Amino acid sequence: DLTTATVRRTPDAPPLITPADLPPARHFVDGRFVGTCAAPDASSDRFTDVVDPSTETLLARIPEGTAADVDRAVAAALAARDSWARLVPKERSEVLHALADRLAEHDDLLSRLESANTGKPLAVSRDDVAMTVDTFRFMAGAVRATGSMAAGDYAENHLSVILREPLGVIGVITPWNYPLLMAAWKIAPILAAGNTVVVKPSEQTPLTTLKLAELVGDLLPPGVLNVVTGYGPVAGARLTEHPDVDMIALTGSVDSGRAVARAAADSLKRVHLELGGKAPVVIFPDADLPAAASALRVAGFWNSGQECGAACRILVHESVAEEFVERLVGEVRALVVGEPTAGEDVEVGPMVSKAHFDRVTGYLERAKEDGLRVATGGGPLEGPGYFVAPTVLVDVPEGAEAAREEIFGPVVTVETFTDEAEAVRRANDVPLGLSASVWTENARRSHDIAARLDFGTVWVNSHLVLASEVPWGGFKGSGYGRDLSLYALDDYSRTKHVMHNHGR
Ligand code: NAD
Repeated sequence: DLTTATVRRTPDAPPLITPADLPPARHFVDGRFVGTCAAPDASSDRFTDVVDPSTETLLARIPEGTAADVDRAVAAALAARDSWARLVPKERSEVLHALADRLAEHDDLLSRLESANTGKPLAVSRDDVAMTVDTFRFMAGAVRATGSMAAGDYAENHLSVILREPLGVIGVITPWNYPLLMAAWKIAPILAAGNTVVVKPSEQTPLTTLKLAELVGDLLPPGVLNVVTGYGPVAGARLTEHPDVDMIALTGSVDSGRAVARAAADSLKRVHLELGGKAPVVIFPDADLPAAASALRVAGFWNSGQECGAACRILVHESVAEEFVERLVGEVRALVVGEPTAGEDVEVGPMVSKAHFDRVTGYLERAKEDGLRVATGGGPLEGPGYFVAPTVLVDVPEGAEAAREEIFGPVVTVETFTDEAEAVRRANDVPLGLSASVWTENARRSHDIAARLDFGTVWVNSHLVLASEVPWGGFKGSGYGRDLSLYALDDYSRTKHVMHNHGR
């Protein structure tokens, strides 16, 4: 039996969250929560079930936002725009620091809520919350160092002043895999740069974004941060096409990215897209194989593989393939699968939903039909909950579906190559270009291969390590624009040139 994993469960453990931990299941508009049946000033009485994917129990019911709800939130963001934009960076920075402190005070609650809604191991949620706080702190500091600048000498007797201005109202659409962290990656630079924002979280995982609004709402002027829950094609689409929204930033799938870019075209609003990934991991014969195998245990299966940068597509030199696969399978078999309540050492949780579980197991079925060999894992684990066994697929022919498409689950494929040219060609031969890694002890080779890889991030002898200071974003089908770092602040501002004649 290759499916060696079992799901660690703790039926007698106290629940991750109590009803008191939940945010109001309402939209957050103009500084207050609006729109439940009890306070029926939203235009829809339709709700979506939010489910704990480890136990399949109902956590909350959130309103399906309509175009009218989005319009109200955009109007609030527009009304708040000018006074927020007029604050000097130091003042906005102080607000963002206070916001970061408030989130840090509630880090345990936010982690438990995130794990309840997504099934993430607590170690992953804690890491998400820590980076959420750090993103706000980084942007709070960085915005003070990115002021306008003056320069002369371009034309006689003229002084140029280059101003960085906020764009205005920015719409944000986030995915389910890192609900809080992806919201933070957008909200922090957007607010730091002086814009106001309307966030539409994933319909499946809205709880921590609503909780963020609840926790920090009193720190921000009303209308600066707004959250409207609901579905992409309704609430997300209205946000995208809204004439008063100056830019739309989406983290999500390639299909949603296309829909957003198309819908944004009529109003010519700016678009920022962080889409999928299919990260190749290129392992040369001179790599430290034990170190690579143990790093890929983490990087291939972090967030249960529901990670756009996951180390999911291994290309290993044929001369070391057998040894490497043996080491990797040993690591993967040792992964601890379980519910978030089952201990801080749980490494892999369930898929986020039944639909996604069906998608991932469908890929595994087709991979087996296509002749790929399962070295470990290979299928679903016993429910309740949407658990899939950590899987390594080998004997992967060039072009196999499992090695080209984003599975977004605990599945890695291993292909072999014979020389550098083949490794680079095959690594680049996917439509997505988010991230990749190279494993070698040879510095010439690592520089050379990194330069030839068509991915927005390339790690050398590492994978998936990130920091608020470094840009994150892709090439090709992975979209355009950068999260994190000074580049994000740049993306969420506009450049104005003012030229003064000081001659007589
Ligand atoms: P998704 O595209 O299904 O949904 C993302 C968001 O887009 C949701 O809020 C959804 O409601 C909204 N949406 C869907 N259709 C829309 C439309 N027509 N108009 C406006 N909004 C619309 O993605 P998902 O399944 O939630 O997330 C998984 C995907 O996100 C994966 O492809 C993954 O690679 C990607 N992702 C990328 C990054 C990155 O940094 N590049 C990070 C995390 C996730």
